Amino acid sequence: MTDGVYNFSPGPAALPVEVVEQVRKDLPSWSGLGYSTMEVSHRQVDFVRLMDSLEEDLRFLMRIPDDYSVVLVQGGASLQFSMLPMNLLGDGTSADYLVTGTWSEKAYKEASLAAPNGIALAATGKDDNFLSIPDRESWRLNPQAKYLHYTHNETIAGLMFASPPKVKVPLVSDISSCILSLPLRVSDFGMLYACTQKNMGPAGIAVAIIAPEMLRQCRQDLPSMLSYPSYVQSRSLQNTPPTFTCYVLALCLQWVRVRGGVSAMEEINRDKAQRLYEMIDASDFYANPIPKPSRSICNVAFTLANPALDDKFLAEAGEQGLANLRGHRTVGGMRASIYNAMPLEGVLKLLQFMEGFERRWRQ
Ligand code: PMP
Repeated sequence: MTDGVYNFSPGPAALPVEVVEQVRKDLPSWSGLGYSTMEVSHRQVDFVRLMDSLEEDLRFLMRIPDDYSVVLVQGGASLQFSMLPMNLLGDGTSADYLVTGTWSEKAYKEASLAAPNGIALAATGKDDNFLSIPDRESWRLNPQAKYLHYTHNETIAGLMFASPPKVKVPLVSDISSCILSLPLRVSDFGMLYACTQKNMGPAGIAVAIIAPEMLRQCRQDLPSMLSYPSYVQSRSLQNTPPTFTCYVLALCLQWVRVRGGVSAMEEINRDKAQRLYEMIDASDFYANPIPKPSRSICNVAFTLANPALDDKFLAEAGEQGLANLRGHRTVGGMRASIYNAMPLEGVLKLLQFMEGFERRWRQ
C-alpha cells in the first residue's frame, strides 16, 4: 500500500511495498555503480550475477529439480502460447488442450495457428460460461499427445484447479496468475510458464520451466528468439533482456524468500480468499457462482445482486483507497486480485467496505 491505496488490479498488479521502496533507493545508483538498472549492460558482471541469483532464488522457491531448465523470454505469457507448440510439435504430432476460461482458450487458438492440424480440444467449459471445470470423464485425451496444456488459475473468472490433473502424457500449465501463490510439484510437469506482472514483478517477460525430456524433443530449426534450446544455451541472454524488469523480479523473489517461501504465501493467500468467499456466501447481496473446490485463491470474482449499483460500488471503493476492483470487461461484476503482495489488511479493509456498502444499499 502506498498513499493509503490498496491495488486489487489483476496485472500488472501490486508489488510489495518493500520492493517499491528498494527500487526507489536503488534508482539513481544500483549496486554502487553510479547508474540505474535501466542503464546497465546485460553483459556487465553485476547484472549477470543478478540473473544467476534470480534463477537460484526461483529454483529454491519452487524446488525446481536440477535437470529442469529455467528461461526468461520476452513477449509475456502470450508468446508462450505459440512458442510451446512451435518447439514441440511437427511431423504429424499433436497436443491436447483443456479450455477452462479466456486464457486457456487463447492458448488453444494461438497454438492452433502455430501448429495447424496439431492441436486437439480435450474439453471446454464454454457452455457453462467457464464457471466450472468440465467433468474429468468428458475429457477426450489422446494417449499419443506430446503434452496436455491447461491453465491452473483462470484469472478472469477466478477458476482454479484444486490440484493438477493426473494424466499419462506430459502436463504443461500456464501458471501466470498463481506462480508463487501456492506450491506446485514441478516434477509433475513437462513445462510450466508464467508472465511476471502478477505475482513477481513488472510486465515484460515470462518464465518458462522445462523438463529435460521436453527440451530434448524441441525442434532445432527454429529462429533463435523462438527456440527454447537457444534460450537455455545462452542462459536467457542471447539478446538484451529488459534489465529493469529482471532486477525487480529478482527483488520480488527475495521478498518471498525472506517471508518464508511459497508455503507461507499459500497460507496467507488461502486465509485472504476464504475470508472473502465466506462473506460473499453469507450474503444475498453479493454472489460468486464458482463451485467451492474450484475457487481461485488469487482472483476472487463477485457480482452484486443489483448490477445497477456496480458503478457506485466502484466509485465509493475508490474513494476509500480500494482500487481496481472492476471485473474483466467480458464478465462484468467485480474482481479482487489478491496476489502475494496484497496484505491481509487490504482484504480486511475491502470486507469492511463491502459490509458497509451492503448495509447502505440493501433494499
Ligand atoms: N495467462 C493468464 C492466466 C493470464 O492471466 C494472462 C494475463 N492476464 C496471460 C496469460 C497473458 O499474459 P501476457 O499479457 O503477459 O501475455
